[in-house]
Amino acid sequence: MISEKMRNMVKNSSAIRAMFEEGKKLAAMYGAENVYDFSLGNPNLPAPDAVGRAIVEEVNTRDALTLHGYMSNAGFEDVRQAVADNLNARFGTSYDGSCIVMTVGAAGGLNVFFKAVLDPGDEVVVIAPFFGEYANYVANFDGKLVVVPPNPPTFQPDRKAFSEALSAKTKAVIINTPNNPTGVVYGEETLKALADAMRAAEEKYGNTIYLVSDEPYRELVYGGAKQAYPALFYENTVSGYSFSKSLSLAGERIGYLAVNRGCADFGDLTGALAVATRVLGFVNAPSLIQRAVAKCLDEVVDVGFYEKNGAALKSIMDECGFEYVEPEGAFYLFVKAKGGDDAAFCAAAKKHRLLLVPASGFGCKGWVRIAYCVSPDTIASSRRSFLALAEEYGDKASE
Ligand code: PLP
Repeated sequence: MISEKMRNMVKNSSAIRAMFEEGKKLAAMYGAENVYDFSLGNPNLPAPDAVGRAIVEEVNTRDALTLHGYMSNAGFEDVRQAVADNLNARFGTSYDGSCIVMTVGAAGGLNVFFKAVLDPGDEVVVIAPFFGEYANYVANFDGKLVVVPPNPPTFQPDRKAFSEALSAKTKAVIINTPNNPTGVVYGEETLKALADAMRAAEEKYGNTIYLVSDEPYRELVYGGAKQAYPALFYENTVSGYSFSKSLSLAGERIGYLAVNRGCADFGDLTGALAVATRVLGFVNAPSLIQRAVAKCLDEVVDVGFYEKNGAALKSIMDECGFEYVEPEGAFYLFVKAKGGDDAAFCAAAKKHRLLLVPASGFGCKGWVRIAYCVSPDTIASSRRSFLALAEEYGDKASE
């Protein structure tokens, strides 16, 4: 029999994954081209050519035993150093190889971090809406999720509510910018304000509060803008990165954690992250793709593709009269559910073969997420379905 804890996780299993599975069923019934699947943040762009070239070069030139064998739990030393050098060059940080732990994607990195720091009952503060899986990652290690309520219509953090969420039990805070699911970007001023609040709480309660900056969308910012680097504003920061989105390598499972040199308990923490990588059963991040990404640290997919997709989708939303948050990055449109019930709205959308994700699972009732990392054709062909959905709600409103 499966465990009680797991039973709950299965019961509350991800709404995103549920929609994705639903999509596969609908595609079998109606044909894939007639189903508009906006459920999963699975990039629709191929990885840059440089990634394929790097993989081939590694396979052709490197000794197979060192290429495919075990290594230190934290990853290849030269890869970690390359990541550190690249971050230092781009953000003016002072990492060295010992600050970097290669991870099995951002998800692996977050689990490794929580394994390393959480004792049962420790609190982890998140700002709603948030990537729903955080709740599971924290629950994996018996932490307690503390949710800062959503702050519509900007969905920038409510600073007062954020300060109030910090307590003597706060072990960590997670931020995610550019944000999944809203697409908003936190600017330097916001990051500094959050840092001030955390420092004040550390002083007040006499504990260390780690900031976990979850950054899979760091490079996906629109209009040529750049994401301010959160670790610059708060010393106790662990930056979690993933190549899933910036290089379209979601299935390869590769990312890293970067621990600020001046982070509290640096030696213990980095040591614990390496051990956590081992004892969780990852052992180390996959070797070939570690080597390949180390050669592609300045590569990024065409952000303009996502920006154009977003614009096309927004114009459909405008036609429908649906309210949404202006996305500044990532590839999600956060849309207000007509009628106020996100689950009912998604169920109605499904009848029009539109697969959207209710945001209740992201801590934000009444909104839905549309992942537009899809083909432009999918967006164009979905228009009639969205209009039909709008009409259905229009009719209801006029009843
Ligand atoms: N964090 C956020 C905010 C995400 O959106 C995702 C994936 O969509 C992840 C973490 C997990 O990413 P990875 O594929 O690198 O594990």
